[in-house]
Formats: sequence, C-alpha cells, structure tokens
Amino acid sequence: MTDTLFAKIIRREIPADIVYEDEAVLAFRDINPQAPVHVLFVPKTPIATLNDLTDADSLSVGKLVLAATRYAKAQGLAENGYRCVMNCNRDGGQTVFHLHLHLLGGRVMQWPPG
Ligand code: C5P
Repeated sequence: MTDTLFAKIIRREIPADIVYEDEAVLAFRDINPQAPVHVLFVPKTPIATLNDLTDADSLSVGKLVLAATRYAKAQGLAENGYRCVMNCNRDGGQTVFHLHLHLLGGRVMQWPPG
C-alpha cells in the first residue's frame, strides 16, 4: 500500500477542507484551485494510478464518479457544465500517487488542456 498525502488526509493526519464523505469516497477542496470550484474526489481504497485499476475496483471507481457528478449538480454546475479530470503518471501531470478525480467548474474551460 502506498502511503501518500491523500492517505494522510483520509486518516485526518493532515488537514484539508473536506466537502463530502461517504464509505468509499472523500472529497476536499484543492489547495491550489484552478477554477472557482476545484474539488478532489479520492477513493478511500489506495490505488496509485489509473494503470493499477482492476475489475475489483469497478464499484469503487463508479462511486467516485457518481460522488463527483452529484456534488457538481448540488453546486449548480450541471446546466453550464464542468470538467472531470484524472491525471496518470508523468505525461498526464499526476503528482500525487493516490487515484483522484479533479472536479473543475464555475468558469469556461479551454480545449485542448495544457
Ligand atoms: O493530478 P495531480 O496529481 O497533479 O493532482 C494533485 C492535486 O493535489 C493538485 O491539484 C494539488 O494542488 C492538490 N493538493 C492538495 N492538497 C495538498 C497537496 C496537493 O489539494 N496538500
């Protein structure tokens, strides 16, 4: 098991601005927000990267995405839209090796991303 910053946040060993929690998912505001709404959704199961997912993680990943989309709707982002991002490894821009989904909203996003 990888012990990362996000595992420490899940265990409440370091502080975070937590906005949502259930049995499978913790969500907290990104410390360096890139949009008016920028929340990280993290599975409580420690999975390092998208490459490490197996069939056994299907339910966990489904719960992660549903938690993010429900939160987006609750924040009034559904109609205008929002972006969900999961970075993988160096070229994907991943810096914390505990799987996470970025929910970004509240402004118009550009494409392609940088
Ligand atoms: O996808 P990536 O691994 O780059 O995302 C990690 C994110 O974790 C960054 O957006 C960073 O700002 C955020 N972070 C955080 N709280 C910390 C450390 C990093 O929200 N204590």
